[in-house]
Amino acid sequence: MTGAGSGIGLAVARRLVSDGWTVLLADRDVAAAEAANAHIGGSATESRAVALDVSRRADWDRAVQDVRDREARLDLLVNNAGITRDRTVEKLTDADWHQVIDVHLTGTWLGCQAFLPLLRESKGALVNLSSMGRHGSFGQANYSAAKAGVVGLTRTIALEQARHGVRANAVAPGAVDTPMLAAVPEKVVNGWLEEIPLRRLAQPAEVAAVVAFLGSAESSYITGQVIAADGGATPP
Ligand code: NAP
Repeated sequence: MTGAGSGIGLAVARRLVSDGWTVLLADRDVAAAEAANAHIGGSATESRAVALDVSRRADWDRAVQDVRDREARLDLLVNNAGITRDRTVEKLTDADWHQVIDVHLTGTWLGCQAFLPLLRESKGALVNLSSMGRHGSFGQANYSAAKAGVVGLTRTIALEQARHGVRANAVAPGAVDTPMLAAVPEKVVNGWLEEIPLRRLAQPAEVAAVVAFLGSAESSYITGQVIAADGGATPP
């Protein structure tokens, strides 16, 4: 579970621990992941924190080796880590573009590729975080392109891995009340609220519930799908 130190990742880790999973809480900020693990009671299980920058292949290779060294099985991978660098297209810098693509799209690809052999052994599942922004989002060309890319990547993995018993799905939240949203001006968030039929932000636990469902046997016949958790903001 990547990006486990904050927001949706923290909520997913909490939900999975309470559902009885042993969770590897990965974050580039290992102190945040350790605090998260202590906070959600993961330390009472075998759950633990690891340092992992999703954009670095070497970090993924180390995580895989760690699981293999412990002779553990991996039933679920959740690619959740994320950042934003918002600017309109004309103002976007190369750095803004590459940083966001590297974390969301390259990071998700690296994670899927690294852990697929373990997921095939367990006939497990993976869940990738996309976003309502995959359809385009003012001031977020980098983020929107990455999140649309995550959908294509997820669907392709689902098609390729179905015969090996591995399921791959994406969750596409709308606006969720997390530190990531704190960077968005209040005026902009209020504009979004007018477009959301449920007229409120999602709580991280509401997104975590969808991730937990897609990672569980309850969703055993669902693969290659994007499940929107956006208060009704996007049509099917
Ligand atoms: P968040 O509260 O900012 O948490 C993101 C976490 O990912 C942070 O702990 C962050 O660490 C970590 N992270 C960033 N770059 C990383 C890297 N290279 N390697 C490993 N960890 C890294 O954000 P959130 O709102 O929970 O978002 C989680 C996911 O949901 C993201 O993929 C996001 O795009 C998606 N999402 C969010 C919303 C929303 O409204 N919040 C809507 C749709 C989709 P640092 O704190 O050190 O940066």
